[in-house]
Amino acid sequence: MTKFVRVLIDRSEGRELDYAVPEEFSGRVPPGARVVLMLRNRRATGTVLEEIASSEVPGIRPILGIVGETGEEASLPPSLLRLARWVSGYYCAPFASVLKAMLPPSLRGERIAGKRIRMVTLARHPDAGTLEKLGRTAPKRRRLLEILLAAGSPVPAPELLASAGSAAPTLKALEEAGWVSVTEERASRDAGGEYLPSRVPDLNPDQARAVESIMEAVTPPSGEGGGSAHPSVFLLHGVTGSGKTEVYLRSIEAVLAAGRSALVLVPEIALTPQTVERFRSRFDIPGARHGVAVLHSHLGEAERREEWMRIRSGAARIVIGARSAVFAPLTSPGLIIVDEEHEGSYKQEESPRYHARDVAVMRGRLEGCPVLLGSATPSVESYRNALAGKYRLLEMPRRADGQKMPLIRVVDLRLQGKRAVSDGGLSAPLQIAISRRLELSQQVILFLNRRGYATSVLCEQCGHVCRCPNCSLSLTLHRNADRMACHLCGHSSRPPSACPECRDPGIRHSGTGTQRVEETLRRLYPEARIARMDADTMSGRGSYEKVLGDFRARRTDILLGTQMIAKGLDFPNVTLVGIINADTGLHSPDFRAGERTFQLLTQVAGRAGRGEAEGEVLIQTYSPGSPSIQHARHHDFAGFYGQEVSFREVFGHPPFRRILLLRIRSVSREDAERAGRMLASAFRRAAPEGVEVSDPAPAPIERAHGSHRFHLTLKGASGTLLSSLAREVLGGLSLPAGVVASPDVDPCSLL
Ligand code: ADP
Ligand code: ZN
Repeated sequence: MTKFVRVLIDRSEGRELDYAVPEEFSGRVPPGARVVLMLRNRRATGTVLEEIASSEVPGIRPILGIVGETGEEASLPPSLLRLARWVSGYYCAPFASVLKAMLPPSLRGERIAGKRIRMVTLARHPDAGTLEKLGRTAPKRRRLLEILLAAGSPVPAPELLASAGSAAPTLKALEEAGWVSVTEERASRDAGGEYLPSRVPDLNPDQARAVESIMEAVTPPSGEGGGSAHPSVFLLHGVTGSGKTEVYLRSIEAVLAAGRSALVLVPEIALTPQTVERFRSRFDIPGARHGVAVLHSHLGEAERREEWMRIRSGAARIVIGARSAVFAPLTSPGLIIVDEEHEGSYKQEESPRYHARDVAVMRGRLEGCPVLLGSATPSVESYRNALAGKYRLLEMPRRADGQKMPLIRVVDLRLQGKRAVSDGGLSAPLQIAISRRLELSQQVILFLNRRGYATSVLCEQCGHVCRCPNCSLSLTLHRNADRMACHLCGHSSRPPSACPECRDPGIRHSGTGTQRVEETLRRLYPEARIARMDADTMSGRGSYEKVLGDFRARRTDILLGTQMIAKGLDFPNVTLVGIINADTGLHSPDFRAGERTFQLLTQVAGRAGRGEAEGEVLIQTYSPGSPSIQHARHHDFAGFYGQEVSFREVFGHPPFRRILLLRIRSVSREDAERAGRMLASAFRRAAPEGVEVSDPAPAPIERAHGSHRFHLTLKGASGTLLSSLAREVLGGLSLPAGVVASPDVDPCSLL
């Protein structure tokens, strides 16, 4: 019988302490259990790491309780503890922060289950000046705002107050001044909507072959740990409309039949009611015992906790969720699916900076369960693994019920002259194509990855561009609101009537955003029913469902949107997809710029021609010769991959060499730069042969959220090697005050 446990204390920077287990908790605190205890003279919470037979600690204290209610105790399955160790090591993130990411906020702390949690969100983004002023007059308020800024997402009020060391009046004051908003619950996005009734199709030969291979790898639970000794990773490469979802559904049926559970990851943006419905309508049959649980960032805290508990208790055997659902507490998953595995949004851009696809592959290995990665445009990394035989490649090169791939035409904007620009970005060929589809009562999707009216405000005399004072980005003009906004930090201000630099009144806007295209469409097609879908129009509750529902029910003719409309939508009556500017991402300073453009074009084009009528795609571009555009145009993934992989090899980019990006920031530019030089020489001294350390350089987005940023890049043969080097060097070094250096292993964004 256990007498003692070793506990990782939540708020203690990774301290592990021993506690005694009183009789009443005996047998109820296995590794993974969440416990309440005293740390010095304060109550605290922690996670049991292991049971120990004896402890040397004199005067050892007892644990006081278990987090949650009896029978609803919030313990982590032991396999997740092992996964957390790996994530913490590989991504150089504190173990405690990884455990925190695994638990819903209300189960992190010592709060009793079932209670409503008040969540605090930043309502306005304070700039550096405001923070400084508050620092002098109201330091507690400043501290609170800083914590919210750092969190970047809603924080439970008790947790916020505790970490800021302030009391409720401080929060109240900030709320009244309009800096923060406090809500009890957030509405679920997973409700209502209009769906097509689903029928279960017969698998075509490609699908049948894929499902058969996957089923061979699915095993019944075999006691402790379960699973196969050599679980497989599959890469399902299926063109858009090839019926990948049906393959997922059939594989999950097999998993359930084997008595196990399944985890499905989709990009946040594709976690739509339509997606969820495809799973629910198949598995959530009343009376059936396998429920579907959904985890996404729009869940209210109470719902999130409830879903977590349903998964933990085994009541839900199918879990669908975005990035962080990779940590869902299933006890014995029989299959982990990662849809759209190439998506950059699987990478978390704050600590712990994990990549959910790669964590999924590791989780599969630890749990002995197969992993299925699916995409129409696999990442170079995964496709290379498949060609090398590390993953098993399953190909579905045809659309599911024999529809043709859409015909893609490229419109060279250089030949369209100034007219295309003055017509809000719509070239003559695109205008003609739209008119024709409208006449045929077919639907049109138009894609532009830039919201707002104009993408910059610039002076024609001196070339001055209006930029965000906190970030180095140019401000986007939003005409309806008569504001210029920073799309990184949310700063906004009135557009100037004269150039702030040279006082010339000729300041004007350039570059086209969705708002401006909408204006043009309404002018050109006054009869057409037009809807715009981007972060600006989708802020209201239920607006997303409404717009998609209307489009599905053919109450809308033209749907114009940003990447929100690029993924997973399946509308049979859409016969024309127009890509208004294919070049938006092409010239970004990132070795993946070409890959991303190819993926985005292929995905967006894939929305066309999913019904009886053949689809057509028009891509407008100023660089028609770019390989990304040419290969997308010919639906030629292999061609694109071949040329991309040789480019990566020549320059030693991933996956040939791995990258660890050290992100250095400080409010002081000198401090950040000095720390960069200091780190570069420390890394050079410690680096083993074969690891290359760059000079520190200003980040492509040099200022963000009021901080100055520098990057230091390490390149080496393996990620593990780089992260252990980073842990060693950062552990033995103290940085100048106010400088933060965060390691980003296998970074997705280099900005
Ligand atoms: P993908 O995710 O590969 O782009 P989907 O899973 O969305 O493709 O499938 C595209 C369409 O084909 C959907 O409308 C789906 O219902 C249909 N479909 C899938 N499998 C079959 C099949 N075997 N026979 C007929 N239709 C199918
Ligand atoms: Zn900004």
